[in-house]
Order: sequence, then structure tokens, then C-alpha cells
Amino acid sequence: MKPTPVHGALFGLAIGDALGVPVEFKKRDELKARPVTDLEGYQTHNQPPGTFSDDSSLTFCLAESLCHGYDLNDAGQRFVKWFFEGYWTAGGEVFGVGKSTEDSITRLENGVSPAHSGNYDPDCNGNGSLMRILPLLFYIRNFEMEERYRIIREVAVMTHGSMRTVIACFYYPEFALELLNGTSKEVAYHRRNEEVTVFLRNKGISPADWALFEPLFGQRIPLVDENECSTIHHAHLTIQAAMYCFLKTNSYTEAVLMAVNLGDDTDTTASVTGALAGLYYGFDTIPEKWIKGIKRSDEIYDLCSRLSTAMGY
Ligand SMILES: [Mg+2]
Repeated sequence: MKPTPVHGALFGLAIGDALGVPVEFKKRDELKARPVTDLEGYQTHNQPPGTFSDDSSLTFCLAESLCHGYDLNDAGQRFVKWFFEGYWTAGGEVFGVGKSTEDSITRLENGVSPAHSGNYDPDCNGNGSLMRILPLLFYIRNFEMEERYRIIREVAVMTHGSMRTVIACFYYPEFALELLNGTSKEVAYHRRNEEVTVFLRNKGISPADWALFEPLFGQRIPLVDENECSTIHHAHLTIQAAMYCFLKTNSYTEAVLMAVNLGDDTDTTASVTGALAGLYYGFDTIPEKWIKGIKRSDEIYDLCSRLSTAMGY
């Protein structure tokens, strides 16, 4: 099959992840002195070059599940299979997993339903649901906004139940939907913010949670100073850092390398950035050496093709 937007988005995501894995937790200053420019190996997680992490593995679990229709229990059981059996890992090893993700998947394994397996602490900030939510874009793309929100929330709360993480998970495919429909990224940012903020006003969001998204919803992302752009592992920061990298650059390569070289949660910032950039600029603009260099490249391509067919491409 010729590449579709699914191939652009999912390869974009996984390659961003793999570029970030070796330098996760490195500080921005250190990466400024020696920036990542290519797939590297070892270092932080001692994995060979091209190794993707939980961000991609859980994305692929959800994508596999969606190939057979929308079924939360099926998606949950694939998360369990990943965590306990290494399903859709790059090389058999599960590493660098966040606490809410690990606890929630353990609850799923113990028979708790996907509606109750997540961490519902209102101050839960982690980006573990954001990093795996993107495949839903292709499933919900023709649904009404209220239905899109319901489905995104349902999948997000399997691991992260706080409103602030749900907002990040909702915004990401909503913005990507504009890109999928061919809108320029600048217009997409302007238009989507207005529609999403109007929609979210009816969802009982606390002033504290609104404040966390002020740069994004205040249309300030392209104007913020890099020092204002934090790349720690909080969902509201990750989506805003990814938007910063995507809006400030002009190619897939530039966008993901900027994301990696901002440091800290490099794999997740670059995977969210990479999904947006891969979707927008297209599969064919991703360097071929990276397409070939990522672990399980042929199987990822096959998964993207199967999901494309299931989603009517
Ligand atoms: Mg990761």
C-alpha cells in the first residue's frame, strides 16, 4: 500500500520517540553543546539505535486494536500484553514506564474495567495517556465534536483520569484533525483553539486547569520564549512544547530534532511533535535512513497499512 496519513503520523511518532530515547532526562544545556542530529544508541536506557519506547508501543497497541474496531477491553488487554509479555516492544524489553501507566495496566490485568483502571487524582499530570492517544484521530475523524470528546476521554482515562490530562489528550487529535483536513498549521492553530475552548467551557474545568493551558489557548505558542517552554513529563507541558516545536519549524526533521534537543522528556516531546509533523509534511518527507533505521520498520508499515484499510483509506 502507498503511504497514507496513518503512515506519516505513526512513523513520525515512533521515529521521534527513537530519536529521544538515548538522551531522555538530559538537560537542554547539555544537548545545546552536543545536539542530537541522528538516531543514536545506548546512553540513558542502554538500547541499540532505532529503539522506540512505551510511547510507540502503546500507540501500536491502540492502532492494532482499532484495526478490529473500537473496543476498550481489547485495547486494554493489548496494553497488558505489552507490559507483561513485551508485545509491540522494539526489542522485547519494557523500559522507562510512568507510574500511572504501570499501576493502571496492573489494575486492568487484575480485571478492573477500563472505566475504573486509571489514576483519577485531579492533580495527576503525567503525559502517559497523551503519548498513546493519536491513532484515535483516524477513527473519530468524521464524528461530531461531542462524540470525539467522549471517545478520546474514554481511552485517555484508562490510565490518566485528571481533567488536565484529558484536555491535553483532547486538544492533540483535535488540532491534528485540522491538519488531516489540509488546513495550514497556522490557520489550524488559530481555528482549533477557538472551537476547542468554546467546547471545553461546558465541561466544568477549574480555573487552575485553564491556567495551565494559557499559552496554548491564549494563542501565544509561537511567541513564547524557549525558556518558558518546559519539556518535563507533564501532559499540559508536553502538548504545548510539541506545538512550539511544530509551529516554529518547517520540516519533519527540524521539528523532531528541536523537540529532542529541548531535553528532559525527549522521547515523548519528540513523539507528539513527530506525529503532528509526520502527518502534516507527509511520510515521504521523513528521512529514509530513519524509516529504515527504526526497529520493526516493516511491521510498523504493515500495521499502518492495516489501520489505513480499516479506517477507509
Ligand atoms: Mg517513553
